[in-house]
Amino acid sequence: MDRSGEVSALHYDTGKPVKIKFSDGLISSVEEIPMSDELNDIFVAPGLIDNQINGYRGVDFSDPSAGTLRIRMAVDAIRKDGVTSFFPTIITGSHDNLVRIFRNLARALQDDEEVRTSVAGFHLEGPYISPEAGYYGCHPAEFIRKPSWDEFMQYQDAAAGNIRQVTVSPEIEGAMDFIGRCVRQKIIVSIGHTNASASQILEAVDRGARLSTHLGNGCANLIDRHRNPIWPQLANDLLTPSIIADGHHLLPEEVKVFCQVKGPDNIILTSDVTHFIGMEPGNYVFLGSDIVLSADGLIKNPVLNCLAGASLPLKTGVGNVMRFTGYTLGEAVNLASRNVTAACRITGRGKLEGGMRADLILFHMENFNMSVKKVIVNGREIGSQSEN
Ligand SMILES: [Zn+2]
Repeated sequence: MDRSGEVSALHYDTGKPVKIKFSDGLISSVEEIPMSDELNDIFVAPGLIDNQINGYRGVDFSDPSAGTLRIRMAVDAIRKDGVTSFFPTIITGSHDNLVRIFRNLARALQDDEEVRTSVAGFHLEGPYISPEAGYYGCHPAEFIRKPSWDEFMQYQDAAAGNIRQVTVSPEIEGAMDFIGRCVRQKIIVSIGHTNASASQILEAVDRGARLSTHLGNGCANLIDRHRNPIWPQLANDLLTPSIIADGHHLLPEEVKVFCQVKGPDNIILTSDVTHFIGMEPGNYVFLGSDIVLSADGLIKNPVLNCLAGASLPLKTGVGNVMRFTGYTLGEAVNLASRNVTAACRITGRGKLEGGMRADLILFHMENFNMSVKKVIVNGREIGSQSEN
């Protein structure tokens, strides 16, 4: 299969016209060229990278019956929205289901080259999270438990060693020891769904936690204005937060403050999207509860009064960050690509440079809306794109 070619477009960061050549799936050169009408206001950027995708267009990664074929369908749909690498994210569930799910994902990696190309690892969000209402969000409470290294190793074995990120709540019994063990195994530890105190967050960072999962969410609706889990995570320069900038999970002013406090190199975007993306608005059952999907993409669990994941693609967050913060296109895209590779230690992707994998998106920006026109993964153009 030919994985060579070239594209000409406006560089997403500099705005200057560039020609990018690639061969054998790798970028070989990026050179400036004269401006011409043919470029047509099309930008080129590295493919987007998402460390938290729960499912896509009807395929739920946490469904133990989802096999290679369905996982591949999700990968294809995710790419069409401009995401070229991601972590399938598995939330709290029963032990048997988690083992089955990770076996399925590992098998899909082994059997399908395209899945292998875009799945950069797995993210286990839970089950070792806060059992307090409000903090566990919509995770099924009956399966939330204390960390067990032996149990986790069964998941890692089922996953053939591909669990790269774990979201854990540091204040629960055994969590600090668990965090240390993960870090020694080079697993990225993210603090999330937590009601930890400032000192507990500090200790988790001392033990090697480096990310905060969807900061500002996975938190009770009513909290102490001083002593809450958000301030110490915002204040800690060693923690890189992921944020869901879909316009529902955080207010515009929260997105702006989080981005300004952390700076454009130390914060990442995630979609936290569920399989409801692309589905018709209406009433559904999710994780055993009734939920409502609105036309604007909001997914709400009215009984728990919490959001039940997101349904808008990562590119929506890129436009929103520009709109809410004044960040440039380059800075906003970096939050959803380059910064994710740094935070999640994904090598060889996320930059328009020679030697990087030729994962490229070509797109229009109009009214902060990224409209993806072409997606190239590993040097090969895939069928294109959605309009919004
Ligand atoms: Zn969550």
